[in-house]
Amino acid sequence: MPKVIAVNAGSSSIKYKLFIMPEEKVVCSGLVDRIGHQDGIFKITYNKEEHKEVLPILEHGKGVELILEALKKYHIVEDLSEIKAVGHRVVQGGKYFAKSTIFDENTAAIIEKLIPLDPLHAPAHLLGYHAFKKALPDALELAVFDTAFHQSMAEEDALFPIPYELTEKYDIRRYGAHGTSHQFLAETGRALFLQDVKHPRIISCHIGSGASLCAIKDGKSVATSMGLTPLGGVMMGTRSGDLDPSILDYISTCTGKDVHEIYTILNKKSGLLGVSGLSNDTRDIEEAIKNGNQQAILAGAIFARRIADYIGQYFVRLGGADLIIFSAGIGENSDYFREEILKRVEEALNLKIDYQKNKDLNHQTALISKEDSPIKVAIIKTDEELMIARDLEKTLNGTL
Ligand code: AMP
Repeated sequence: MPKVIAVNAGSSSIKYKLFIMPEEKVVCSGLVDRIGHQDGIFKITYNKEEHKEVLPILEHGKGVELILEALKKYHIVEDLSEIKAVGHRVVQGGKYFAKSTIFDENTAAIIEKLIPLDPLHAPAHLLGYHAFKKALPDALELAVFDTAFHQSMAEEDALFPIPYELTEKYDIRRYGAHGTSHQFLAETGRALFLQDVKHPRIISCHIGSGASLCAIKDGKSVATSMGLTPLGGVMMGTRSGDLDPSILDYISTCTGKDVHEIYTILNKKSGLLGVSGLSNDTRDIEEAIKNGNQQAILAGAIFARRIADYIGQYFVRLGGADLIIFSAGIGENSDYFREEILKRVEEALNLKIDYQKNKDLNHQTALISKEDSPIKVAIIKTDEELMIARDLEKTLNGTL
């Protein structure tokens, strides 16, 4: 019964979850937050109780130390050698990784090379790796890439119509993201709802503060909405998603801002936040829509429209569909936005949706389509950490 940890290291935080495998039992989970600050936050949830401390956590190494100390303090492990493997979520694997890979100095060197593609997360992943390597030198470390699942895309799906020389020289292509989640959703959807379908065609909608859609055929990603970086695709909480590229030049000419400033606007000040002028959070947007706020109504409508359009695109790309999945913060919890999206595709796709079920079944994994719907529609709670733990177990068994 090996214990393994799934880790998600960000620039100022480390999320973690400890599993016993193969039982897939979550023993504890937690978060180190505000790394780099005197008032850093350490949290661990164990036996359904959350323990929290506020203390200086100046670097990632200290955060990892606190996690491991807490595991001993609460007798979750008696000895750190019980932790056999650590799996790190890595956002960008570029063209180099089509599956989870042992995280060693070679992998670290490639991730370092990819920093220009993901300046926000890649340095944090490296800090997380080095900190765990130092604290648990005998544990196996694995890098689990958000992009790996999408490496199966064909060139016609992955490449952009720019000069080929640029594509080749700078490896410019659609890498996508949320791959670990889309893979989990496709595997779970197939096991729960498509037992009788030989070659399942799934449209997976991971809609949280970041959002992406994925067209999955026979368990493989054939197309995904995010692009070179997680800025592309559908509209998100603060990100614009796809745009006419001339908008960059035009904003620059009009405002005098340079490309980096505009890039920041598109990443952090656009999407639901930018259009509504209120919030990036769908709970606030839904509330404002109820109160008749016109900009919130517009933001919600563009948001639903763009996701609906991608569903239509992927229906064509897959030659039909057997299952549409909604997941992540908005997909799992917002019956309002599921309904808004589905209303925009149901006629064309001949969907039969049970809208009462849609209302009643937030926060759970369940079908919301009626029996006679030609395409099933489901909510599935995603679990990227469990996917990482499964990959760790397979690596320990030599079956990855
Ligand atoms: P994620 O990035 O997957 O954690 O999703 C976070 C987002 O989910 C938040 O920013 C909200 O927009 C949305 N969300 C979470 N809970 C709810 C809820 N109960 N109703 C509507 N939207 C929600």
